[in-house]
Amino acid sequence: MHTRILVGLIAGAVVGVGLNATVGADHAVVVGLNSWVCGPIGQIFLRLLFMVVMPLVFSSVVLGVAGIGDVRSLGRIGAKTAAFFIGSTIFAAATALVATKALRPGDFLADDVKTKMMATFADGAADKVAVAAKGSGVGMHTLVEMVPKNPIAAAVNGDMLGVLVFAILFGVAMTMIDSDKRAHMLKFVDALADICTTLVHIALKAAPVGVFCLIFGVTSRFGLALVPPLLAYVGLVVGTLAFHVVVTMSVTIWLLVKHHPLDFARRVRSSLLTAFSTSSSSATLPTNLIVAEQELGIPAAVAGFVLPLGSTMCMNGTAIFEGITVLFLCQVFGVELTTLQMASALFLCVVTAIGAAGVPGGSIPLLVGIIVGFGVPAEGIAIILGVDRLLDMCRTTVNVYGDLVGTAVVARSEGIYNPPVRV
Ligand code: ASP
Repeated sequence: MHTRILVGLIAGAVVGVGLNATVGADHAVVVGLNSWVCGPIGQIFLRLLFMVVMPLVFSSVVLGVAGIGDVRSLGRIGAKTAAFFIGSTIFAAATALVATKALRPGDFLADDVKTKMMATFADGAADKVAVAAKGSGVGMHTLVEMVPKNPIAAAVNGDMLGVLVFAILFGVAMTMIDSDKRAHMLKFVDALADICTTLVHIALKAAPVGVFCLIFGVTSRFGLALVPPLLAYVGLVVGTLAFHVVVTMSVTIWLLVKHHPLDFARRVRSSLLTAFSTSSSSATLPTNLIVAEQELGIPAAVAGFVLPLGSTMCMNGTAIFEGITVLFLCQVFGVELTTLQMASALFLCVVTAIGAAGVPGGSIPLLVGIIVGFGVPAEGIAIILGVDRLLDMCRTTVNVYGDLVGTAVVARSEGIYNPPVRV
């Protein structure tokens, strides 16, 4: 599927750039194709993704929070696990936001092209900007408005933050009710999340054509202008993921596990290869369990508890990818975020990374919801969808690495694990 999406991207780009360079953006054929063929098909594809965003965000975040609630009820190990998941995800997302703010990959696009892009694709984005801007003033009202008066209205207005706050509270409350009732609700929410994910998969079947049309829409109007920022973006995502593994995680392994980081990486390489080739944390779980117990020698009691949770909740790589993508697309479309909006971007990236499913492209629909909330046209997602295969492979590898590091940290802190090669 990813290969076909990439083919769709390349074909759309070649035809679009070709027509742009030969007949020009204003030629009747280009305008006609954009208005009558590629535009509508691309829009339908985006709408198929959009329609699941709110139920998916709600159900996956409720499941995530209820899961963390359960973790906490499991006592000290649970609390340490939750602390590692949340702490490492916040750190990962913050690194991504700081790196993107400092290096500004979106600035590889000329200002006049940015303005034109926004004007071309702004359809419907203006009211979303208004929603985002509501959170931009500094003051008590910002805090107050985070809590939705009406969760349905928040979903209708595309107010992701409001829906997230409701989902978090809903998940917390769920862990407090009678266990029989909770089990029923969990089943229901779990089924809802599964149905939404299935819908996303159905929509993604149309992705090669959808991406072709969306990319054609961009390149036929703007030619090759997007290539330099896109290359800078891919480089930044891969570089930040590498930084997280080589620096952040190595320091963590060194200090908290007292294991030599290079030896750690060598021992877990079959997990990393599985993650890289499947782009799925969930699919890598069986390998991860074997690696943790047999290669690292972590007791099954800890590995069997932390790894399954980590495969759906601890996604450092996804948090990095989301943080960079949100800021990059804001830069490409000329949307400047205030410090407060950056803080809310951090929060959204962390919560959606915890909520995203450990399947290929699991974070994409959640990401669409975030970018639109900041006033970036949904077409923006097409710009990165074509290169997502590579990025998904890389971020999933980092997700899985984080799960293993977390397991080692928890086991070590409990005093029940001695690394094979000590520092
Ligand atoms: N593919 C990722 C994983 O399974 C999730 C994502 O970021 O799309 O870990």
